[in-house]
Amino acid sequence: MKILLSNDDGYQAPGLVALHEALCDLGEVAVVAPEHNNSAKSNALTLHAPLYVQMAGNGFRYVNGTPADCVHIALTGLLGWRPDLVVSGINNGANMGDDTIYSGTVGAAMEGYLFGVPAIAFSQAEKGWSHLDAAARKARDLVRQLIDRGLEGPPWLLNVNIPNRPYDALGAFRVCRLGRRHAAEKVISQTSPRGEVMYWIGGAGPAKDAAEGTDFHAVAQGHPSVTPLQVDLTDHATLAAWSGVLAQS
Ligand code: MN
Repeated sequence: MKILLSNDDGYQAPGLVALHEALCDLGEVAVVAPEHNNSAKSNALTLHAPLYVQMAGNGFRYVNGTPADCVHIALTGLLGWRPDLVVSGINNGANMGDDTIYSGTVGAAMEGYLFGVPAIAFSQAEKGWSHLDAAARKARDLVRQLIDRGLEGPPWLLNVNIPNRPYDALGAFRVCRLGRRHAAEKVISQTSPRGEVMYWIGGAGPAKDAAEGTDFHAVAQGHPSVTPLQVDLTDHATLAAWSGVLAQS
């Protein structure tokens, strides 16, 4: 079993270290992760600057690029072998609902999926790493179960959010659809020491659709959510209607 492990919080993040520790006896686990925090970088690739790979004392490789860069170069030449599974995380904070569009944690896993490798993105629901040991153990449970089931066949991409609770207080995994958030909070503007106006992107909006069956609902009930994701953003339900609109033009 060969596993490629990455994240978006950077190669020194506690979530990555804990996940590596939890998975390292399940097979050969290679870490290729961003040098710095790359949260909310989605699937961005660095096309106009060189990427450098360095190795930390613990054997983790780190890259001056994005999460998708890390997985991309790992799969296209750096490793020299093809992993059976790409795992990303554990992220510092939720990646539920609309977060998945922005998430670098999901982006790293998505890059593996785009290359035909099954992939899982793990996040803790709250920031701050409380009960990280429990989240890592729960993540291991899922990876172990999926390996035992067999990783052959069409690739898949799972997005997992784990409540910050002690292991014994975590419920069973719940397969969920994504919820939706309200629009993000207002931009924060400040004046720089040079008198220029600076803008800081505001926080994510609160949950809007947190109905039963969503990731928000499962996590609020203490269950780790598991959402299978796909890449196709086509709005299939409105294809015919749009054809009608444009047929008249
Ligand atoms: Mn992050």
